[in-house]
Amino acid sequence: MKILVSDDVSMKGVDLLRENGYEVDVKKNLDEQGLIDCIGEYDGLITRSMTHVTEKVIEAATKLKVIGRAGVGVDSIDLKSATARGIVVVNTPTSNTLAATEHTCAMIMAITRHIPQAHNSLMAGNWDRKTFTGIQLQNKTIGIIGVGRIGSRIAKRMQAMEMKTIGYDPYIPEERFKQLGVEQVDLDTLFKRSDYITMHTPLTKETRGLIGKEEIAKMKDGVRVINVSRGAVLDIYALAEALKSGHVAGAAIDVFPTEPLTKDINPFLGMDNVVITPHLGASTVEAQIGVSVDVAEGVMEALKG
Ligand code: NAD
Repeated sequence: MKILVSDDVSMKGVDLLRENGYEVDVKKNLDEQGLIDCIGEYDGLITRSMTHVTEKVIEAATKLKVIGRAGVGVDSIDLKSATARGIVVVNTPTSNTLAATEHTCAMIMAITRHIPQAHNSLMAGNWDRKTFTGIQLQNKTIGIIGVGRIGSRIAKRMQAMEMKTIGYDPYIPEERFKQLGVEQVDLDTLFKRSDYITMHTPLTKETRGLIGKEEIAKMKDGVRVINVSRGAVLDIYALAEALKSGHVAGAAIDVFPTEPLTKDINPFLGMDNVVITPHLGASTVEAQIGVSVDVAEGVMEALKG
């Protein structure tokens, strides 16, 4: 059986597939047409977030039995078309949870103490100890939107920094909030009370555009906004406006509505109250190995039927 790996995935998973007798081709950076042209020969497809498995790709995938997503978000896959064709979609929901959690913590610290800006200033030959005065996290309130695997771990880590944690998640029971020590609030209350707001929902019909101009206007003056979930959850153009006006004091963003975020569509260019990273949430050695081995196992299981 033949498997196509169309994104950057650690070789550990690829080796595992080959050891188990699967023929594996690694072809990165294929556009939709490139994928359509070759997908017909494969029984399995393994992707990360760069490959978009569209309806047209699925139509051309006459032998395809399984799509493995090395990571959590399956929003890059047309699930409806895949399901209609009986193609199984497997993901690796837990293997990069810690990586994304720790990246979020790093982003929170970076915008709180202006670490990238201070670093750049010193590297440019300046010794500026005035511009980069930060704030302390203790006793500040962090509002967590989506208190699932990552959101709940953010709560635990930010509680260790002595922050107050409040959260909005309509799909988890009150009991779970209590267990986590997170105060359950509605979205408007979260906007009103939070000094920091961090998003950890999946991208769904309901969460697409969840945080736009109107929602940002409801946030506290001087709020700091973090998004390491999915780009389309947050309107980065509305955020950039609020950063310019000073209503939002800082932002840390790892994910963007269009990726890669090229210069011509980057609303943050030249702004000094923002820290952005190119979708690095899952980029740790441990997570990359974890997702590739987990996705390989999931794909093999599906192919064995
Ligand atoms: P999860 O499914 O464990 O948790 C998501 C939570 O969001 C759930 O508790 C769910 O009830 C809640 N939710 C769903 N709809 C909601 C809504 N409308 N309002 C509020 N809450 C809602 O997922 P997870 O593993 O914690 O991942 C969270 C997000 O992080 C996903 O979007 C995932 O794709 C993303 N992620 C990003 C990276 C990265 O590289 N930046 C890495 C890993 C995960």
